Amino acid sequence: MKQLSEKIAAVAPSATIAISDKAKKMQREGIDIISLSIGEPDFDTPRHIKDACIDALNCGETHYAPSNGIPELLSAISEKITKENHFTCRPDQVIVTCGAKDAIFNTMEAVLNPGDETIIMTPAWVSYEPCVQIAGGKIVRHALNAKTFQLDDSLLERVTAKTKMIVVNSPSNPSGAVFNKSSMQLVADLCEDQDIYAMSDEIYEKLVYTKGHISLASLGDMMHRTITINGFSKSYAMTGWRLGYAVAPVPIIRQMSKVQQHSVSQAATFAMWGAVAALKGDQHCVEEMRKEFDRRRKYIIAELNLMGYETAPADGAFYAFVKVAGDDMDVASRWIEKGHVAATPGSAFYAPGWIRLSYATSMERLKEAMDRIKRVG
Ligand code: PMP
Repeated sequence: MKQLSEKIAAVAPSATIAISDKAKKMQREGIDIISLSIGEPDFDTPRHIKDACIDALNCGETHYAPSNGIPELLSAISEKITKENHFTCRPDQVIVTCGAKDAIFNTMEAVLNPGDETIIMTPAWVSYEPCVQIAGGKIVRHALNAKTFQLDDSLLERVTAKTKMIVVNSPSNPSGAVFNKSSMQLVADLCEDQDIYAMSDEIYEKLVYTKGHISLASLGDMMHRTITINGFSKSYAMTGWRLGYAVAPVPIIRQMSKVQQHSVSQAATFAMWGAVAALKGDQHCVEEMRKEFDRRRKYIIAELNLMGYETAPADGAFYAFVKVAGDDMDVASRWIEKGHVAATPGSAFYAPGWIRLSYATSMERLKEAMDRIKRVG
C-alpha cells in the first residue's frame, strides 16, 4: 500500500504515554495509583456556568453558530482582555476555538510557511512542537535557565533570518514558572527589532501565587504581532467543554477563521453560553480554586524540598517541577511501580532530569503521595 503522510509519521508520540499506560494497566489490576500526572483541575465546573449551558440547551441553542463564536462571547472576551490584560481588543480580534489547543493549532496553520523557524523555550508543553511540525514549520529550541526559568540575552542566539515566531508560555506548564517583566520585555524587544510574531499561551494566567501575570501583548506595540491564547479549561475547571480562544490582529484572525471554517466549523453553541456566564458572572469561584491550589502548592514544595529535592520556582499553574538524580524515566518508573504514584517525566517536555508533579488533586491524596515518594526515594 502507498505510504501514509510522512509529515504526521515524523511527529513523535507523547513521551507521557508510557507512564500513563502503565498507570491505567495497574489501576485495572486493582492497584491504588495516585495520579499526579493530571493536567486538569480536580474541581467541578462552577454551578452557574453549568446552569447557563443547560438554559441554553433548553432554549434551543443547539444549532450552528457563527464560526468565530457567538457575538455575546466575542464581546465578553474583548471586554475581559481590555480590562484585565491591559491591551485593547475588539470582538473582531477574537476567535473562539475548541479548546486552547485548537487555537494553538490554528495559529501555526495561519502564520507559518514551510521552513519558517519557530522558537520554543524548553521545558515546553507537549503540543507546541507537533503543531509547528504539522504546519510545516521548523522548530528551534531554546533551553531556559534551569535555576530561574527566566530569559536572558542567550535567546538572541536562536534568531536567524528565517525566524517567524516565538512561543511564550507564562505561567508555564510544566515548570510552574512565571516570566518576570524583564523576560517578557526581552521577548517584546526581540520581536519588534527583528519583525517576529509571538504566540503567548496565557491559559494559566489566573493561577499565579507570588507575582502578577503580564500579558505579552500589553507591552509596547506587541498587540500588533501577538497571538494571545487563552481558554476556560484551567481558570474555570472546564476541560471537557473544549473551549478556548485566540486574540490577534484581524489579518491573523481571518486566516485562523479559514482554518476553523474548513475543519471544526465552530465551538459547541450551548457550551459558548456557559463561557459567557463564566466571564460575566461572579469571579469568586476562580479565586477559591486559586487559593486551594496555593495551599497545596505550599505543602508539596515544602515536602519535596525537605526530602532534598530541588524544585523550579513554583509561581504559577498547578505543577511542581522537581529535579531528580539519574534518568527521569527510571525515577518515574520507580515511583509508579514501587510507590504507586504516577508522575510525568521531564523528557516529555524536553527537560530530561526533571519530573512534573501535578497538585490538582486533593490534599489528602497529595499527602499520601508524598509519603509514598518518601518511602521509595
Ligand atoms: N496550553 C497549555 C500550556 C496547557 O497546559 C494546556 C492543557 N494541558 C493547553 C494549552 C490546552 O488547553 P485546552 O484544554 O483549552 O485545550
